[in-house]
Amino acid sequence: MKNDRGVIFQSFHWYSPADGTLWKTLSDEAEQLRTAGFSAVWLPPGYKGHAGASDTGYGVYDLYDLGEFDQKGSIRTKYGTKGEYLQALKALKQAGMHSYVDIVLNHRMGSDATEIVKATPYQKDDRLQPAGEMHEIEAHTNFTFPGREGAYSSFSWHWWHFDAVDYDAREPEASSTIFVFEGKAFDDYVGSEYGNYDYLMGCDLDFQQDEVREELSAWGRWYLDTTGADGFRLDALKHIPSWFFVSWIRQMREHTGRELPVIGEYWDPELGNLMTYLDQTEGTLLLFDVPLHYQFHQASRLGNSYDLRQILDHTLMKERSASAVTFVENHDSQALQSLESVVESWFKPLAYALILLRREGYPCVFSADYQGAAYTDQGSDGTAHEIVIPSHRQLIDTLLSVRGAFTFGEQRDYFDHANVIGWTFSGDAEHPGAMAVLMSNGSEGRKAMHTGMAKARFIDRTGYVAGEVETDEEGMGEFSCPAGSVSVWVSI
Ligand code: CA
Repeated sequence: MKNDRGVIFQSFHWYSPADGTLWKTLSDEAEQLRTAGFSAVWLPPGYKGHAGASDTGYGVYDLYDLGEFDQKGSIRTKYGTKGEYLQALKALKQAGMHSYVDIVLNHRMGSDATEIVKATPYQKDDRLQPAGEMHEIEAHTNFTFPGREGAYSSFSWHWWHFDAVDYDAREPEASSTIFVFEGKAFDDYVGSEYGNYDYLMGCDLDFQQDEVREELSAWGRWYLDTTGADGFRLDALKHIPSWFFVSWIRQMREHTGRELPVIGEYWDPELGNLMTYLDQTEGTLLLFDVPLHYQFHQASRLGNSYDLRQILDHTLMKERSASAVTFVENHDSQALQSLESVVESWFKPLAYALILLRREGYPCVFSADYQGAAYTDQGSDGTAHEIVIPSHRQLIDTLLSVRGAFTFGEQRDYFDHANVIGWTFSGDAEHPGAMAVLMSNGSEGRKAMHTGMAKARFIDRTGYVAGEVETDEEGMGEFSCPAGSVSVWVSI
């Protein structure tokens, strides 16, 4: 799939209010998001999770319940009802934006009944050696969806559709154990942590099982027919055999006759592992640039002892930019979440300039960075923390508007100083404006850069630095930025 000049908006964060208003808000704000410069919106999972109206959607219970049936204590999901969901997707389309819907196929949670089955125990940190003999367990593996009463699908899930669970109702205290069912094995072509990272949580789907693959294809066709979604964000790829989605996505594209852009979440800071996955999936999808996120995380923690010249090293943005979806933060990396790796607030303007104002990558803006967020939760230290994520909306709006007009023509890089880096765009025939971006993670920055535009006047669109810079007959200008910040100079 090709990577245009679009920008994605991630419309939620982990602590988005569980008041059932997100779908309605998206309908109301679709036009505004389009006007700001977004071309696509990533929506959270739209189906019922095991925690009902408070579930983010990642703890999937019923993929056919888009907030329509009285299951898990409510009709609506965390984000609203089915009607509101479909309306939001329609509003995004009408505003001229793509919708990327979140697809979670790795696991199921919150079964309706237990089943007695034989299983072999493994410790969670060693998936290669059994930790005991095979024995009978009582597994929460039977999903009959009584609240839905067979609507849309009569498929019931049983233990044989899964490889493993991590809970035996007869032995509820064995919390670090994974039970692999008789005749089953962990799937191959998955992440390599703990020897095999097939198992993540809940009832782990067996992708080698024919009925499972047929059911996921049937559901996918139903879901696309029902929602008209334009593309996918795929969850937890590292825990699903890489060959599965190649075939599933192909079927979905054939069914709809549409391109269906796909962005995968393969959470791994190692570039090599992402490249391997991209090769295995034969260009079917793009991947979030997790290594770039970790560069931002580190840079924000290290302050001026971080060498900015290396900020794009070992990233998809640099090495495989056509497959890179770049982002600063997301609902898993935000404070107190499972993959917590916060990008400190002072660095976010620099990070957003890096993803929004360069040629490489398909950027994704996180709602909590755009709209701000405040929440309280327990951290990994067991105590409650109050978190405030400030809104960077004003700056991001400026960057979006500059992206649309000034990121064209020749891109010249000045990644030549540990604390002050910059780049310029010369503009092209259709977009005649030139631009110079300068950022510093230390004291006030200054740099002479070639803009490709002679005798032109530039102003800092962030408003951080007052006054004008004029380039000489060669197109060279002396640009500046404040300490620990970024300036975006555009020709006027
Ligand atoms: Ca799995």
